[in-house]
Amino acid sequence: MFTARDLRPTWAEIGLAAFGRNIEAIVRPLPAGSRLIAVLKADAYGHGAIELAKRCGPDRVAMIATALLEEALELRRAGIELPLLVLGPLTESQIPIALEHNVTVGVIGPEELESVCRVARDREITIHLKLDSGMGRMGVIESEMQRVVELIRSAPRLRIEATYTHLANAGNPSDPYLEQQIARFDRMCDELRRAGLTAPRHHLANSAATMRGIVRPGDFVRVGLALFGAEALDVGTSRLEPILRWRTEIARLKELPAGSVIGYGTTFRTSRPSRIATLPVGYADGYDRLLSNNADVLVRGRRAPVVGRVSMDLVTVDVTDAGEARFGDEVVLLGQQGGEEIPAEELAKRTGTISYEVFCRISRRVPRIYK
Ligand SMILES: *Cc1c(COP(=O)(O)O)cnc(C)c1O
Repeated sequence: MFTARDLRPTWAEIGLAAFGRNIEAIVRPLPAGSRLIAVLKADAYGHGAIELAKRCGPDRVAMIATALLEEALELRRAGIELPLLVLGPLTESQIPIALEHNVTVGVIGPEELESVCRVARDREITIHLKLDSGMGRMGVIESEMQRVVELIRSAPRLRIEATYTHLANAGNPSDPYLEQQIARFDRMCDELRRAGLTAPRHHLANSAATMRGIVRPGDFVRVGLALFGAEALDVGTSRLEPILRWRTEIARLKELPAGSVIGYGTTFRTSRPSRIATLPVGYADGYDRLLSNNADVLVRGRRAPVVGRVSMDLVTVDVTDAGEARFGDEVVLLGQQGGEEIPAEELAKRTGTISYEVFCRISRRVPRIYK
Protein backbone atom coordinates (compact mmCIF):
# COMPACT_ATOMS: atom_id res chain seq x y z
CA MET A 1 0.00 0.00 0.00
CA PHE A 2 1.37 3.41 -0.91
CA THR A 3 0.03 6.85 -0.15
CA ALA A 4 -0.50 9.80 -2.49
CA ARG A 5 2.75 11.19 -1.13
CA ASP A 6 4.68 8.27 -2.55
CA LEU A 7 3.26 8.84 -6.01
CA ARG A 8 4.31 12.38 -6.83
CA PRO A 9 5.62 15.40 -4.97
CA THR A 10 2.90 17.68 -6.38
CA TRP A 11 -0.05 18.03 -4.02
CA ALA A 12 -2.39 20.55 -2.40
CA GLU A 13 -2.37 20.80 1.37
CA ILE A 14 -5.68 21.76 2.94
CA GLY A 15 -5.59 23.18 6.45
CA LEU A 16 -8.55 21.82 8.38
CA ALA A 17 -7.83 23.87 11.51
CA ALA A 18 -7.79 27.07 9.42
CA PHE A 19 -11.08 25.99 7.83
CA GLY A 20 -12.55 25.63 11.33
CA ARG A 21 -11.29 29.08 12.29
CA ASN A 22 -12.82 30.57 9.14
CA ILE A 23 -16.19 29.06 10.04
CA GLU A 24 -15.89 30.61 13.51
CA ALA A 25 -14.93 34.00 12.05
CA ILE A 26 -17.96 33.91 9.75
CA VAL A 27 -20.47 32.69 12.33
CA ARG A 28 -19.42 34.86 15.30
CA PRO A 29 -20.54 38.25 13.90
CA LEU A 30 -23.85 36.97 12.51
CA PRO A 31 -26.92 38.68 13.97
CA ALA A 32 -29.37 36.88 16.26
CA GLY A 33 -31.04 33.85 14.72
CA SER A 34 -28.86 33.90 11.60
CA ARG A 35 -27.13 30.71 10.62
CA LEU A 36 -24.53 29.55 8.13
CA ILE A 37 -25.23 27.48 5.03
CA ALA A 38 -21.80 26.25 3.93
CA VAL A 39 -21.64 26.19 0.13
CA LEU A 40 -19.49 23.19 -0.80
CA LYS A 41 -20.45 22.85 -4.46
CA ALA A 42 -17.92 21.75 -7.10
CA ASP A 43 -16.07 19.63 -4.53
CA ALA A 44 -15.86 22.64 -2.20
CA TYR A 45 -14.33 24.77 -4.98
CA GLY A 46 -11.67 22.09 -5.45
CA HIS A 47 -10.80 21.82 -1.75
CA GLY A 48 -12.63 18.52 -1.23
CA ALA A 49 -16.28 18.57 -0.15
CA ILE A 50 -16.33 15.36 1.87
CA GLU A 51 -13.37 16.21 4.08
CA LEU A 52 -14.60 19.76 4.67
CA ALA A 53 -18.20 18.67 5.27
CA LYS A 54 -16.93 16.39 8.03
CA ARG A 55 -15.59 19.55 9.72
CA CYS A 56 -18.97 21.30 9.58
CA GLY A 57 -20.44 20.80 13.03
CA PRO A 58 -24.21 21.18 13.45
CA ASP A 59 -23.61 23.80 16.15
CA ARG A 60 -21.99 26.14 13.59
CA VAL A 61 -23.39 25.03 10.23
CA ALA A 62 -27.13 24.80 9.62
CA MET A 63 -26.93 23.25 6.15
CA ILE A 64 -24.51 22.35 3.40
CA ALA A 65 -25.39 23.52 -0.11
CA THR A 66 -24.26 21.97 -3.39
CA ALA A 67 -25.03 22.84 -7.00
CA LEU A 68 -25.82 19.29 -8.13
CA LEU A 69 -27.85 16.45 -6.68
CA GLU A 70 -24.86 14.20 -7.42
CA GLU A 71 -22.72 16.34 -5.13
CA ALA A 72 -25.26 16.10 -2.32
CA LEU A 73 -25.54 12.32 -2.72
CA GLU A 74 -21.77 12.00 -2.55
CA LEU A 75 -21.88 13.71 0.84
CA ARG A 76 -24.72 11.49 2.04
CA ARG A 77 -22.81 8.38 0.92
CA ALA A 78 -19.84 9.64 2.94
CA GLY A 79 -22.03 9.69 6.04
CA ILE A 80 -22.72 13.44 6.25
CA GLU A 81 -25.92 13.89 8.25
CA LEU A 82 -26.35 17.67 8.14
CA PRO A 83 -29.32 19.02 6.17
CA LEU A 84 -28.34 19.35 2.50
CA LEU A 85 -29.66 21.87 -0.02
CA VAL A 86 -29.28 21.59 -3.80
CA LEU A 87 -29.09 25.03 -5.39
CA GLY A 88 -29.13 24.00 -9.04
CA PRO A 89 -31.94 22.69 -11.24
CA LEU A 90 -33.23 19.14 -10.82
CA THR A 91 -35.04 17.08 -13.43
CA GLU A 92 -38.38 15.59 -12.43
CA SER A 93 -36.85 12.13 -12.07
CA GLN A 94 -34.20 13.47 -9.69
CA ILE A 95 -36.72 14.92 -7.24
CA PRO A 96 -37.77 11.59 -5.63
CA ILE A 97 -34.08 10.66 -5.36
CA ALA A 98 -33.42 13.90 -3.49
CA LEU A 99 -36.30 13.12 -1.10
CA GLU A 100 -35.13 9.54 -0.50
CA HIS A 101 -31.79 10.92 0.66
CA ASN A 102 -33.31 13.73 2.68
CA VAL A 103 -31.90 16.41 0.38
CA THR A 104 -33.81 19.70 0.29
CA VAL A 105 -34.62 20.99 -3.19
CA GLY A 106 -33.89 24.67 -3.85
CA VAL A 107 -36.65 25.06 -6.43
CA ILE A 108 -35.43 27.42 -9.16
CA GLY A 109 -38.60 28.28 -11.05
CA PRO A 110 -42.21 27.48 -11.93
CA GLU A 111 -41.22 24.60 -14.22
CA GLU A 112 -39.37 22.79 -11.47
CA LEU A 113 -42.11 23.72 -9.01
CA GLU A 114 -44.64 21.93 -11.23
CA SER A 115 -42.51 18.78 -11.08
CA VAL A 116 -42.19 19.13 -7.32
CA CYS A 117 -45.96 19.55 -6.95
CA ARG A 118 -46.57 16.39 -9.00
CA VAL A 119 -44.21 14.46 -6.72
CA ALA A 120 -45.85 16.12 -3.68
CA ARG A 121 -49.21 14.53 -4.55
CA ASP A 122 -48.23 11.37 -2.73
CA ARG A 123 -45.64 12.57 -0.25
CA GLU A 124 -44.50 15.44 1.95
CA ILE A 125 -41.91 17.76 0.41
CA THR A 126 -39.98 20.61 2.00
CA ILE A 127 -38.37 23.09 -0.38
CA HIS A 128 -36.49 26.35 -0.48
CA LEU A 129 -38.00 28.57 -3.19
CA LYS A 130 -35.69 30.74 -5.25
CA LEU A 131 -36.86 34.20 -6.26
CA ASP A 132 -35.07 36.14 -9.00
CA SER A 133 -34.42 39.56 -7.52
CA GLY A 134 -32.32 40.58 -10.48
CA MET A 135 -29.61 38.05 -11.23
CA GLY A 136 -31.49 36.89 -14.29
CA ARG A 137 -30.46 33.25 -14.20
CA MET A 138 -32.56 31.14 -11.85
CA GLY A 139 -35.55 31.94 -9.67
CA VAL A 140 -39.16 32.98 -10.01
CA ILE A 141 -39.67 36.44 -11.58
CA GLU A 142 -42.34 38.88 -10.44
CA SER A 143 -44.66 38.25 -13.39
CA GLU A 144 -44.74 34.53 -12.50
CA MET A 145 -45.72 35.02 -8.86
CA GLN A 146 -49.44 34.48 -9.37
CA ARG A 147 -48.87 31.16 -11.12
CA VAL A 148 -46.44 30.10 -8.39
CA VAL A 149 -48.95 30.97 -5.66
CA GLU A 150 -51.59 28.84 -7.39
CA LEU A 151 -49.20 25.93 -7.78
CA ILE A 152 -48.24 26.03 -4.11
CA ARG A 153 -51.89 26.25 -3.02
CA SER A 154 -52.66 23.16 -5.11
CA ALA A 155 -50.04 21.14 -3.21
CA PRO A 156 -51.05 20.83 0.45
CA ARG A 157 -48.17 18.46 1.18
CA LEU A 158 -45.60 21.00 0.01
CA ARG A 159 -43.86 23.06 2.68
CA ILE A 160 -41.74 26.11 1.92
CA GLU A 161 -39.03 26.29 4.54
CA ALA A 162 -37.30 29.31 3.00
CA THR A 163 -37.34 31.78 0.17
CA TYR A 164 -33.99 32.88 -1.17
CA THR A 165 -32.28 34.94 -3.84
CA HIS A 166 -28.78 35.52 -5.18
CA LEU A 167 -26.94 38.84 -5.41
CA ALA A 168 -25.23 39.91 -8.63
CA ASN A 169 -22.59 42.35 -7.41
CA ALA A 170 -22.28 42.27 -3.63
CA GLY A 171 -18.47 42.40 -3.92
CA ASN A 172 -18.63 46.00 -5.06
CA PRO A 173 -19.86 48.23 -2.17
CA SER A 174 -20.40 51.24 -4.46
CA ASP A 175 -22.93 49.45 -6.69
CA PRO A 176 -26.48 50.40 -5.60
CA TYR A 177 -27.87 47.32 -7.38
CA LEU A 178 -27.64 45.37 -4.11
CA GLU A 179 -30.31 47.57 -2.46
CA GLN A 180 -32.52 47.24 -5.52
CA GLN A 181 -32.26 43.46 -5.34
CA ILE A 182 -33.09 43.41 -1.62
CA ALA A 183 -36.10 45.68 -2.22
CA ARG A 184 -37.40 43.44 -5.01
CA PHE A 185 -36.86 40.30 -2.92
CA ASP A 186 -38.83 41.90 -0.05
CA ARG A 187 -41.63 42.87 -2.45
CA MET A 188 -41.86 39.29 -3.73
CA CYS A 189 -41.84 37.83 -0.20
CA ASP A 190 -44.62 40.28 0.76
CA GLU A 191 -46.68 39.11 -2.19
CA LEU A 192 -46.32 35.50 -1.02
CA ARG A 193 -47.25 36.55 2.52
CA ARG A 194 -50.37 38.35 1.33
CA ALA A 195 -51.33 35.11 -0.43
CA GLY A 196 -51.02 33.34 2.93
CA LEU A 197 -47.71 31.65 2.07
CA THR A 198 -45.21 32.58 4.74
CA ALA A 199 -41.78 31.02 4.65
CA PRO A 200 -40.12 30.95 8.07
CA ARG A 201 -36.65 31.57 6.62
CA HIS A 202 -34.91 33.77 4.08
CA HIS A 203 -31.41 33.79 2.66
CA LEU A 204 -29.71 36.28 0.34
CA ALA A 205 -26.12 36.83 1.40
CA ASN A 206 -23.18 35.18 -0.34
CA SER A 207 -19.59 35.57 0.94
CA ALA A 208 -19.30 39.19 -0.14
CA ALA A 209 -22.55 40.33 1.48
CA THR A 210 -21.79 38.31 4.62
CA MET A 211 -18.28 39.77 4.96
CA ARG A 212 -19.83 43.23 4.55
CA GLY A 213 -22.29 42.46 7.34
CA ILE A 214 -25.32 42.75 5.07
CA VAL A 215 -27.33 40.14 6.96
CA ARG A 216 -30.66 40.65 8.70
CA PRO A 217 -31.45 38.94 12.01
CA GLY A 218 -32.86 35.46 11.41
CA ASP A 219 -31.66 35.28 7.80
CA PHE A 220 -29.37 32.44 6.80
CA VAL A 221 -26.21 33.20 4.81
CA ARG A 222 -24.83 31.06 1.95
CA VAL A 223 -21.07 31.28 2.12
CA GLY A 224 -18.61 29.53 -0.15
CA LEU A 225 -15.45 31.42 -1.09
CA ALA A 226 -14.84 33.07 2.30
CA LEU A 227 -14.74 29.64 3.98
CA PHE A 228 -11.61 28.89 1.97
CA GLY A 229 -9.93 32.15 2.95
CA ALA A 230 -10.06 33.94 -0.40
CA GLU A 231 -11.00 37.60 -0.77
CA ALA A 232 -14.73 37.97 -1.37
CA LEU A 233 -14.81 41.69 -2.14
CA ASP A 234 -13.67 43.08 -5.50
CA VAL A 235 -11.22 45.35 -3.72
CA GLY A 236 -10.84 44.54 -0.11
CA THR A 237 -9.17 43.27 2.96
CA SER A 238 -11.93 41.03 4.28
CA ARG A 239 -9.91 37.90 3.58
CA LEU A 240 -9.85 35.13 6.18
CA GLU A 241 -7.12 32.44 6.36
CA PRO A 242 -6.27 30.76 3.06
CA ILE A 243 -6.62 27.02 3.64
CA LEU A 244 -5.03 25.67 0.45
CA ARG A 245 -1.32 25.45 -0.32
CA TRP A 246 -0.31 23.95 -3.67
CA ARG A 247 3.26 22.72 -3.69
CA THR A 248 5.67 20.66 -5.72
CA GLU A 249 9.41 19.97 -5.77
CA ILE A 250 12.28 20.76 -8.11
CA ALA A 251 12.63 17.67 -10.33
CA ARG A 252 15.54 18.92 -12.48
CA LEU A 253 17.92 21.78 -11.92
CA LYS A 254 20.32 22.88 -14.62
CA GLU A 255 22.87 25.59 -15.21
CA LEU A 256 22.37 27.01 -18.68
CA PRO A 257 24.51 29.54 -20.53
CA ALA A 258 23.15 32.86 -21.80
CA GLY A 259 21.14 32.43 -25.01
CA SER A 260 19.52 29.08 -24.06
CA VAL A 261 15.97 28.42 -25.22
CA ILE A 262 13.36 27.24 -22.68
CA GLY A 263 10.22 25.38 -23.71
CA TYR A 264 7.70 25.11 -26.55
CA GLY A 265 7.45 27.97 -28.97
CA THR A 266 10.93 29.26 -28.02
CA THR A 267 9.22 32.05 -26.05
CA PHE A 268 12.06 32.44 -23.54
CA ARG A 269 15.78 32.74 -24.09
CA THR A 270 18.14 33.21 -21.14
CA SER A 271 19.85 36.60 -21.14
CA ARG A 272 22.52 35.50 -18.65
CA PRO A 273 23.97 32.27 -17.28
CA SER A 274 20.87 30.91 -15.50
CA ARG A 275 19.75 28.24 -13.08
CA ILE A 276 16.56 26.76 -14.49
CA ALA A 277 14.39 24.45 -12.39
CA THR A 278 11.86 22.07 -13.93
CA LEU A 279 8.73 21.34 -11.86
CA PRO A 280 6.53 18.24 -12.24
CA VAL A 281 3.27 20.16 -12.67
CA GLY A 282 1.53 21.56 -15.74
CA TYR A 283 -1.71 22.74 -17.26
CA ALA A 284 -3.18 19.22 -16.94
CA ASP A 285 -2.94 19.80 -13.19
CA GLY A 286 -4.73 23.13 -13.52
CA TYR A 287 -1.69 25.37 -13.63
CA ASP A 288 -3.01 27.63 -16.38
CA ARG A 289 -1.06 27.88 -19.62
CA LEU A 290 -1.72 31.63 -19.53
CA LEU A 291 0.82 31.69 -16.70
CA SER A 292 3.59 31.05 -19.28
CA ASN A 293 6.26 33.75 -18.71
CA ASN A 294 3.60 35.34 -16.49
CA ALA A 295 3.78 34.13 -12.87
CA ASP A 296 6.01 33.64 -9.87
CA VAL A 297 6.45 30.60 -7.67
CA LEU A 298 8.08 30.47 -4.23
CA VAL A 299 11.41 28.73 -3.66
CA ARG A 300 13.21 29.06 -0.31
CA GLY A 301 10.73 31.78 0.63
CA ARG A 302 11.61 33.91 -2.42
CA ARG A 303 9.79 34.60 -5.64
CA ALA A 304 11.11 33.00 -8.83
CA PRO A 305 9.58 33.68 -12.26
CA VAL A 306 8.01 31.08 -14.54
CA VAL A 307 10.01 31.14 -17.77
CA GLY A 308 8.91 29.66 -21.08
CA ARG A 309 5.59 27.98 -21.79
CA VAL A 310 3.68 26.00 -19.21
CA SER A 311 3.41 22.50 -20.71
CA MET A 312 0.90 19.77 -19.94
CA ASP A 313 3.03 18.18 -17.23
CA LEU A 314 5.93 20.58 -16.63
CA VAL A 315 6.74 24.13 -15.68
CA THR A 316 10.16 25.81 -15.86
CA VAL A 317 11.24 28.54 -13.46
CA ASP A 318 14.33 30.73 -13.25
CA VAL A 319 15.81 30.24 -9.79
CA THR A 320 19.05 32.13 -10.50
CA ASP A 321 18.08 34.76 -7.89
CA ALA A 322 16.26 32.42 -5.50
CA GLY A 323 19.01 31.79 -2.99
CA GLU A 324 20.72 28.42 -3.07
CA ALA A 325 17.86 26.50 -4.68
CA ARG A 326 18.62 22.77 -4.90
CA PHE A 327 17.24 19.66 -6.55
CA GLY A 328 14.29 18.43 -4.45
CA ASP A 329 13.50 21.82 -2.87
CA GLU A 330 9.86 22.53 -2.15
CA VAL A 331 8.23 24.97 -4.60
CA VAL A 332 4.93 26.69 -3.80
CA LEU A 333 2.65 27.54 -6.73
CA LEU A 334 -0.23 28.91 -4.64
CA GLY A 335 -0.17 29.81 -0.97
CA GLN A 336 2.52 30.65 1.54
CA GLN A 337 6.15 29.73 1.99
CA GLY A 338 8.34 31.50 4.51
CA GLY A 339 7.02 35.03 4.76
CA GLU A 340 5.99 35.17 1.09
CA GLU A 341 2.67 34.30 -0.52
CA ILE A 342 1.18 33.68 -3.96
CA PRO A 343 -2.52 34.37 -3.31
CA ALA A 344 -5.21 32.86 -5.55
CA GLU A 345 -6.19 36.42 -6.47
CA GLU A 346 -2.74 36.95 -8.02
CA LEU A 347 -2.98 33.90 -10.29
CA ALA A 348 -6.55 34.89 -11.14
CA LYS A 349 -5.54 38.38 -12.17
CA ARG A 350 -2.71 37.06 -14.35
CA THR A 351 -5.05 34.68 -16.17
CA GLY A 352 -8.00 37.05 -16.49
CA THR A 353 -10.29 35.19 -14.13
CA ILE A 354 -11.39 35.01 -10.49
CA SER A 355 -10.03 33.04 -7.55
CA TYR A 356 -13.09 30.73 -7.72
CA GLU A 357 -11.91 29.40 -11.08
CA VAL A 358 -8.27 29.11 -10.00
CA PHE A 359 -9.36 26.75 -7.21
CA CYS A 360 -11.90 24.82 -9.29
CA ARG A 361 -9.34 24.12 -12.00
CA ILE A 362 -6.80 22.37 -9.78
CA SER A 363 -7.38 18.98 -11.32
CA ARG A 364 -7.97 15.52 -9.94
CA ARG A 365 -4.36 14.68 -10.74
CA VAL A 366 -3.32 16.80 -7.75
CA PRO A 367 -3.87 14.86 -4.52
CA ARG A 368 -5.44 16.82 -1.67
CA ILE A 369 -3.65 16.20 1.62
CA TYR A 370 -5.57 17.19 4.76
CA LYS A 371 -3.71 18.47 7.74
C1 LIG B 1 -22.00 29.56 -5.23
C2 LIG B 1 -23.18 30.17 -4.58
C3 LIG B 1 -23.05 30.80 -3.34
C4 LIG B 1 -21.72 31.03 -2.66
O1 LIG B 1 -21.08 32.13 -3.24
P1 LIG B 1 -19.71 32.67 -2.62
O2 LIG B 1 -19.47 33.92 -3.35
O3 LIG B 1 -18.69 31.61 -2.90
O4 LIG B 1 -19.94 32.84 -1.17
C5 LIG B 1 -24.20 31.27 -2.74
N1 LIG B 1 -25.40 31.12 -3.33
C6 LIG B 1 -25.56 30.54 -4.52
C7 LIG B 1 -26.92 30.42 -5.12
C8 LIG B 1 -24.46 30.06 -5.20
O5 LIG B 1 -24.62 29.49 -6.39
